[in-house]
Formats: sequence, structure tokens, C-alpha cells
Amino acid sequence: MADHYEVLGVERTASPDEIKKAYRRLARELHPDVNAAPEASERFKDVTHAYDVLSDPRQREQYDLGPSQPFGGGGGQGGFGGFGDIFETFFGAGGGGGNGAPRSRKERGADALLRVEVELQDVIFGVTRELEVNTAVLCETCEGSCCAPGTRAVVCDICHGSGQIQRAVRSLLGNIMTSSPCGTCRGYGTVIPNPCPTCAGQGRVRATRTMSVDIPAGVDTGVRLQLQNQGEVGQAGGPNGDLFLEIKVNHHDIFSRNGDDILATIEVSMVDAVLGTKLTVEALDGEVGFEIKPGTQSAEIITIKDRGVTKLRGTGRGDLKIGVQVMTPTKLNGKEKEIIQIFGATHKTPPPYFATFQQGLFTKLRDRFLNL
Ligand SMILES: [Zn+2]
Ligand SMILES: [Zn+2]
Repeated sequence: MADHYEVLGVERTASPDEIKKAYRRLARELHPDVNAAPEASERFKDVTHAYDVLSDPRQREQYDLGPSQPFGGGGGQGGFGGFGDIFETFFGAGGGGGNGAPRSRKERGADALLRVEVELQDVIFGVTRELEVNTAVLCETCEGSCCAPGTRAVVCDICHGSGQIQRAVRSLLGNIMTSSPCGTCRGYGTVIPNPCPTCAGQGRVRATRTMSVDIPAGVDTGVRLQLQNQGEVGQAGGPNGDLFLEIKVNHHDIFSRNGDDILATIEVSMVDAVLGTKLTVEALDGEVGFEIKPGTQSAEIITIKDRGVTKLRGTGRGDLKIGVQVMTPTKLNGKEKEIIQIFGATHKTPPPYFATFQQGLFTKLRDRFLNL
């Protein structure tokens, strides 16, 4: 580690005033709000640490004694200085960046959550949606600097740019050095004399942003999509948070969903159920043709392969499952009634009997759907 006097560019005999002046000069040059270069930030930390030590008479004395006495074992008052350093390490440097470094004005923006409603047909193949998001965006006037045009942040006079106020607290073990964020600059190390009028010195403004989002096939209600860096921009132009989209798939009156399968019910006339037929009906993704076999019963399931929802994970699609409901004719004219009676006389059926318990067709259909 570099010598504290060399870091500040002063003689070992420098007066407290000379040390303070040297530090102020370097802080104006190296403070992160003024100088964006990464090596400047590193140097600023070193400079601030050197100043913290040399500006405190007791710590300076300890430092001048050299590193051969890790706990200030030389006895006398100097010993407590060593303990003070240890306590500071244990208790941390309070809020802010720690180690005497000021905290940055740039903060990561907040994550945002948006609910998006989609229709069942949208999730079969996925859909692109235009979304309006009320969010925070970078202030174009100051471009995140928070300062009015033509002005800039200046090093805080109270903490001289460290963002920390050091204080000695007496305890049974002697003086303990504690540091807390500077109240004048709120720990930033700089103050902004002329805040940007557009954003009131925040570096960002609220705005409505329109964005186009691809909602993948197969999403279901409750799924959260994470869009990285699409959340709010941070204070002072800090990095964006993430945007989360919470999906809600709207109820459909005719089609429902079971995992990757789509379920529907078809009403078939008694005659078609008895004699069989070929049907073509409009499904969510276009026409679908299938056969009703002769002798089809109510609650039978017809499975159309690969006409369900595209799988969110993996490949391929689920199936379309069609439950059959045979419709018994209710209004017959005299001729029709006669025909049915003739049919009944020639077609021998066993007398009615109690079959396996079922709570109506709807339940039976549902149970079959779920067990398939
Ligand atoms: Zn601004
Ligand atoms: Zn300050």
C-alpha cells in the first residue's frame, strides 16, 4: 500500500492545514462525480483513506510509528488507536460505500411488474403485443447528470468529498472512530448547486413508453416473463431494472385448457351418433375435420393429435380433445314418433339398470378428460 503522505503529495512534516488543502485539491480532480475514469475512482479512495488517517492527530501519530506495532503495543495512549481501527472494521463505516468512499448517485432502477391479458387462441402459437408502460426514463435535458445544463456537481465542503463524517466516541476501551453519511451531501461527496429543472435533479423523468413484446406460445395464467433491463432507469442515469410481465389467459366460453391440451365439447344428433358421420368444425386455429363412428356414446372423447397449445418447454403441440354429447330429440311430430316406436319394437334392449355412479354428463366428461 502506498505511503499516505505520498498519496496526498505532502511532506511528512506537513501541517494539518496543508494536508487539508492537498486533499481538497485532489478531491476536486478525482471525485467520481467529476472524473469518470475508473483509475480516478481508485485513486480517490486511496486519497480519501490517506486523508482520513492523516487528518486525525491520533491516527497520524499511530501511522508515523509504523506498522511494527499492529495493536499499538507500545503502550500508553497509542494503544487505543489500534483498537479503534478494529472497532471500525467490526461496526462498518455506516451507510454509503464503506471504507470512507462516497456512495454513487447512480442507482439501479426499480423492477416493474405489468399484468398482460391474452386470449386462449394467442397462446397456441404465441403473440406479439404492443404494451404501454408507465416508467422512468433518462432525462434528456441533463442526460442523467442531474445538473442544469452548463453546470456540474461540486465537492461537498462539509465532508470534503468523502461522503462520510468521522467522529470519535468515548468508550471503556478508549476512543472509537465511527463514521456516518454526511448530512449535507447525503453521503454522495458532492452537492448539486443548480439541479436540472426538467427532472428536479433526479436525472430521470416519468414517461409512458410503448414497447413491442413477444409473448411466447404455451404461457399460462400466472407465468411471469422477465424482460431484462426493460424496467425503470435508475436515479442519475443508473442501470435499468427489469420488467416482469405477469400473464393472465382469459376465459374462453367454448374452449378450455388442460396443460398443453385444448378441450371442447361437440353436440351430435342422435342419428349421427347411431349411424356415424364426418364433421368439419371451426376450432381456435382453423377448421378441424374428424369422424363420428357409428354407435358413438355420450362422453366419448375424440383426440385430434397436435392441435393443442404449442409447448412452452420442449417441442411440438398438445392435442385437441373433443368430448361428444349425444342430443336426444325433444320435439317429434306424429310420423317421427311412430318411426321411433317401430324402431323400439324391433330393437331389443335390456331393461334399464343402475350403472356406475356418475354425477351427470359434465362430470363424466371432465373425469374422462383429466384421466386421458
Ligand atoms: Zn435532468
Ligand atoms: Zn458531504
